[in-house]
Amino acid sequence: MSQDGFGFVLRFNRRYSMAHRLISGEAPNCRIPHGHDEVVEVELVETGNRGLDDRTNMLVEFSRIKGRWFQWIDKSVDHSFHLGSGDPLIDYFQSNEPDLATKLLVTPGDPTTEIRAACFATKLHSFLQEENPDFACRKLTIQETPTNSVSFYPAELASVVPSGDQHWWNRPDTTINDF
Ligand SMILES: [Zn+2]
Repeated sequence: MSQDGFGFVLRFNRRYSMAHRLISGEAPNCRIPHGHDEVVEVELVETGNRGLDDRTNMLVEFSRIKGRWFQWIDKSVDHSFHLGSGDPLIDYFQSNEPDLATKLLVTPGDPTTEIRAACFATKLHSFLQEENPDFACRKLTIQETPTNSVSFYPAELASVVPSGDQHWWNRPDTTINDF
């Protein structure tokens, strides 16, 4: 996308079910595990100034740019349980139901919609860097309920989550935790 804002935006939505709980106490109702059907929307822009392909009139074939992202949402995020890294329920699952540990999505601190949007945007960035480096995520929105959503603009808030590939959001793989 050019400096003056001219260009194309590709926008993709995916729905998934999830559960979480927040233990900071700021939202007392959210201390009990509960779930939402969420929709994540991403907006991608092309950064290489290639323009449309002469033959296809496309920026990129949709399945090529969204395939891995949707696969991660469907296989890893759908029906996952989102917990903060300090939540004692993590120990419970690791000790008593370790076969479910791959379905725990672990965030630094409480798994609020805000931090999850930042983690998701960073994960998408990791996928794009590996497969489609000429594209970048301009905006990622998690619609938590029909009336509440959080949008994250990765370019403007680059350091919300820690760097380093010991963190799942920085790895272009299927993981949602670092066990
Ligand atoms: Zn909730």
